[in-house]
Amino acid sequence: MAGYLQKLMRDLESPVEVRRFGSGWFAGFFALLFAISGFVLVVALKFPAWLTTPELQIVRDWGGFRSAIHVILLISYALALLSLLLRSRKVLGMTALAIGLGAALLGGAAVQSDDATGWGVFFGIDFFIVNLLATGFMYAPLERFFPHRREQRLFRNEWREDLFYFLVSSMFVQILAFLSLAPSQIINANTSNWQAFRAAVASLPWLVQFVIVLVASDILQYWYHRLFHKVPFLWGFHAVHHSAKSMDWLAGSRMHVVEVVLLRSVTSLPLFTLGFSASVMQAYIGFIYVWSSLLHANVGGNFNRLGHWIATPRFHHWHHGLEREAFDVNFAIHFPWIDKLFGTFHLPEDRWPKDYGIPEDVPSGYAGQFLYPWRRTGKKTDEVEA
Ligand SMILES: [Zn+2]
Ligand SMILES: [Zn+2]
Repeated sequence: MAGYLQKLMRDLESPVEVRRFGSGWFAGFFALLFAISGFVLVVALKFPAWLTTPELQIVRDWGGFRSAIHVILLISYALALLSLLLRSRKVLGMTALAIGLGAALLGGAAVQSDDATGWGVFFGIDFFIVNLLATGFMYAPLERFFPHRREQRLFRNEWREDLFYFLVSSMFVQILAFLSLAPSQIINANTSNWQAFRAAVASLPWLVQFVIVLVASDILQYWYHRLFHKVPFLWGFHAVHHSAKSMDWLAGSRMHVVEVVLLRSVTSLPLFTLGFSASVMQAYIGFIYVWSSLLHANVGGNFNRLGHWIATPRFHHWHHGLEREAFDVNFAIHFPWIDKLFGTFHLPEDRWPKDYGIPEDVPSGYAGQFLYPWRRTGKKTDEVEA
């Protein structure tokens, strides 16, 4: 413990030339600062008896207080990731992550909304750790007992990079979940003539709303995804997702951060604008995570019939296949019939792709892949001729 604190202090006090801009020091420092502030505020909320000063009571009663804590913790999380990415010494970033996590485990900002009481707690505990544990505990045993490739191990090549991707993209899930709690009048301020339509949507049964969200977002996602395969510059971003050579539940998180932001903002458009209840939105945001992990998971089962209607691991594995017959097929992520409708469906009976990946050299590691879209030459490896 003492040694650890010494290490932390040494990094905090590093000479100016080591903490120049871009070294990850500033990100780490502010991550730590925000994490500690967030932690103290959460503790204050958790044990209000400690805060008996009347002046502070007023602050705690202010409606935006919990949102402010949530934002502070999110900023700390983002900066910690940035610092871990930029800095070779990980002690600052890891400490900030750990303190933020401690705040999260205490209950975080416990964002509440009248419409989403049940989900409030779940999203209050910072999403990424719940998400990681939940998906890990769900899929690691599943991949072990029902594997497609028995020989593939949990800690396969490049699992660390993919775990990092998982942390980054679950942050965006958190941001979306947070936005979904924002009062709809803010988002929809300029479209008041849709009010009757939205009220009608909100009055639909929960499950019906959920299915509509799935269909609408998958149709949008389909065309968005197809566009990223078609336009060379966009493909540079999406190639990162396709660079995974082994498929498992973690591999699905490998996605360029620019693509994550664009994808989430496009597919959540109907979610935020058509008047769905907050609990439907949050359920969908949580579901999409579990679902995309399933699609990439190293899980067997041919499901020849079901695979025509509901996306299965084999259906999406074909999207990642290295062989030519797998190019530009199966863009949908929930409903293969969308691919049938637009002529891109490919699910040969009982067969799986032999290899995964793409016939071009994408660098390994987060930083190299981050820069890849701008550095890409489009040069193909020889594998395609083979
Ligand atoms: Zn794709
Ligand atoms: Zn994929």
